[in-house]
Amino acid sequence: MADPSPPREVLRRTRGICNTCLEDVPAEVVITEGVARLEKHCPEHGTSVQLLSRAPDYWREVDRFYFQVNSERYTQRDYLLRLTESCNLDCPICLAKANTEETEDLDLTGIEPLLKEKRHIKLDFMAAEPTVRKDLVDWVKKAKDAGHLTALHTNGLRIADLSFARRMKEAGFDEVFLQFDGFDEEANRILRGRPLLDIKLQALRNLREVGLATSLIVVIGGGINEDQVGEVFRFAMRPENDHIREVFYLGLRILGSLRDGLKRKGHDFAESSLMPDETLDMLEAQVPGIRREDVRVFNKLYFSLLSTFRVKKCLYVQHYLVLRDGKGGFVPFSDLVNLPSLERVAERFASQVREHPRRAKIRFLTDLGLHSANLKMAPVLQEFVRLQLLLRVGMNLEKVSPHMVLLGFITACDPYNFDAQVAVNCGKGEVSADGGFVEAGAVANVLRERRFDRTARTPGALHPGQEAPPPEAAPADAPAKLRRKPGRPRKKPQA
Ligand code: SF4
Ligand SMILES: [Zn+2]
Repeated sequence: MADPSPPREVLRRTRGICNTCLEDVPAEVVITEGVARLEKHCPEHGTSVQLLSRAPDYWREVDRFYFQVNSERYTQRDYLLRLTESCNLDCPICLAKANTEETEDLDLTGIEPLLKEKRHIKLDFMAAEPTVRKDLVDWVKKAKDAGHLTALHTNGLRIADLSFARRMKEAGFDEVFLQFDGFDEEANRILRGRPLLDIKLQALRNLREVGLATSLIVVIGGGINEDQVGEVFRFAMRPENDHIREVFYLGLRILGSLRDGLKRKGHDFAESSLMPDETLDMLEAQVPGIRREDVRVFNKLYFSLLSTFRVKKCLYVQHYLVLRDGKGGFVPFSDLVNLPSLERVAERFASQVREHPRRAKIRFLTDLGLHSANLKMAPVLQEFVRLQLLLRVGMNLEKVSPHMVLLGFITACDPYNFDAQVAVNCGKGEVSADGGFVEAGAVANVLRERRFDRTARTPGALHPGQEAPPPEAAPADAPAKLRRKPGRPRKKPQA
């Protein structure tokens, strides 16, 4: 007799993307076989699955709470800006699929009026490697003149030159996101194609020297550099590294170059893809004092705060806060406050916010203040309140206290984990020369992967005489149906 099917608990019904054809298909978030996962049902290719969490009770709670406090669509205030398709590295795992075409820098004509159209947004100068763009400084100045916050996302190669780092500071960048995957050079070789440690450490010293607040973006690949989760955490806590205000663990995704197998050199990445919840598991295992249970409650507070200030935030992104003890160690948030009582504050907010939003928000902020005010919190209470204000006006790491380090367990939203209901309040949009403003980065990423499949080109890189394809309408909560055309053979990557 065939085994009975394992029990399935459906948490939500939504829309997702088929792993094979990248079509928009019905999907469900389910708990089954001891895990939480997203199941996508394609009429042509059957069911494809994305693991969400190996801690189903945790995930059930996070999912329920997130949608309870985020029932509306908020205005996007944070956009990734694509500047170029080129890079001075050639990582096998490149999400941006850099250097797969010989392209000029993207033509940004048309972006300038767009920058003036929005008020006080954050612009993340990102893909592929912004520092290779010759007119980068001009664009930062334009963004600053338009009154926006600016963040540089970089591999750090050029920042390792002190005079270049200084120019970035003088140009007006508010913060830098530095790719830093840890201290294991073999892992750097696998992920980035070459050893990089000396360069990264020099870049970090330079960022400190010029006074640029820094977020470390640590890509973690399953079976590649899992032990670096704890290593990087301990490194960030050192007193001399107090310009590091965030450590974000980014689970490896099979996207861009990796999805194509374009640049794989002798390493099988098939089992290395990770979701945020899995990197949280690793930190908990490697750093005593970090507990998933505390992160669960912290996220309720964090989601409630963002909901109060109407700030978009992805469900998949989990956060936690620790304080430096000034001696290379840390104090977890849970040691400063009574988390169970704060959880009750968050739950009360969640139960009232839909029916009485104004009253619920005032009460939440008041209760948060009352329950956080105690002797242990006294030295940092002011800084904690400032952090809350930053969430309201736009996160600017320069203004985050050097005593605090925000931890993030993040993902690149992609066709595999795309959930249309989550994309409604995707934390980052995208602005590009060819696409204008796209409110949800998750939608932009799906569209880009489809274009990769269809044209074997990177977006924005039209060949001379070639016309741009018509834009694909893609509302954040209902990705456009793709009329999939046969792809042309792909170009070989550059050596
Ligand atoms: S992942 Fe980043 S650093 Fe690596 S090739 Fe792509 S753009 Fe360059
Ligand atoms: Zn399909």
